Amino acid sequence: MTFYRPNILIIYTGGTIGMVRNSKNGSLKPFPFNHILDEIPELGRFNHQITSHTFNPPIDSSNIDPEQWVKLAEIIKTNYKIFDGFVVLHGTDTMAYSASALSFMLENLDKPVIFTGSQLPIGSIRTDAKENLISAIELASARKGNTPNVPEVCIFFQNKLYRGNRTSKFNAEEFKAFQSYNFPALAEVGVHIRYNTPFIHIPDGRNKFNIHTKLSTDVALLKLFPGISEKVVESVLNISELQAVVLETYGSGNAPNHRWFIEQIKKALDRGLVILNITQCAEGKVEMGMYETGIELEKAGVVSGYDMTTEAAVTKLMYLFGKKMSRNEIIMDLNRSIRGEITI
Ligand code: ASP
Repeated sequence: MTFYRPNILIIYTGGTIGMVRNSKNGSLKPFPFNHILDEIPELGRFNHQITSHTFNPPIDSSNIDPEQWVKLAEIIKTNYKIFDGFVVLHGTDTMAYSASALSFMLENLDKPVIFTGSQLPIGSIRTDAKENLISAIELASARKGNTPNVPEVCIFFQNKLYRGNRTSKFNAEEFKAFQSYNFPALAEVGVHIRYNTPFIHIPDGRNKFNIHTKLSTDVALLKLFPGISEKVVESVLNISELQAVVLETYGSGNAPNHRWFIEQIKKALDRGLVILNITQCAEGKVEMGMYETGIELEKAGVVSGYDMTTEAAVTKLMYLFGKKMSRNEIIMDLNRSIRGEITI
């Protein structure tokens, strides 16, 4: 009888988890972390084969951009056949953007890719890094027969496993730093690991895993606030070469119905811009038909972002525009869930 010995690749991109204090001003900065495994001797007690790959140089996640997402996707692709699962160590600040981006870029994924990090560096006594990393490895290697339990891009933090493109960082201090407001956790880690199986994506297995590495950065994010001026709206909508705007509206997708505002939106749509409406509320969804202040947007041709997070909205647009699809095809894909990012 042969035993399954999970083979896990840890990719360290940077973030607090591996940071050290700058002796001059006390700030935290990324540190080459070649000895992740030495830092956690407990890992030696796993029956796993663990290999690590470190970004050179490791970065604070505030410096993450699509170039690093492509690098991550390529590392996963190169190692896809060799490993059973992947754990990505990443700074918490932009982890939800990276996990969302990767969820779109990794096409026909059928293995776990679990992002995690920590609020305190691994070297600090009260660190949350060890628990996060150990559980992430366990989640990345769990399977029934030959099928991984969570063949998705996820974020694991504190004790919950979330779908990556449903997650946002909501707390800068507590160990519970992430929340998935509009979709249940995929697993909860306590004495037992409880999987929320009905909500976990099942790959259809017909198409081969591949990565998409072209992303468009001609995307903007415009958050409304009472008093926003015409010149601000006009400037954003007229940025040269802009392809799409994520419009963060109020409540169920409402915006001012001042004439100037609707006219600016209409002109931008006539020029071919895609405008995606998501709500500033953490929980709930856009329903443009509910109020007069939403209906105008819908009539003008603004697309609903349903219950999507900002992170997923921005990266979905980057991905779709990177595919060089027609405007109509993009709008069709915005109106359906392509990686479980929206509930329709
Ligand atoms: N600034 C850090 C980063 O995102 C914060 C963290 O890792 O928690 O890289």
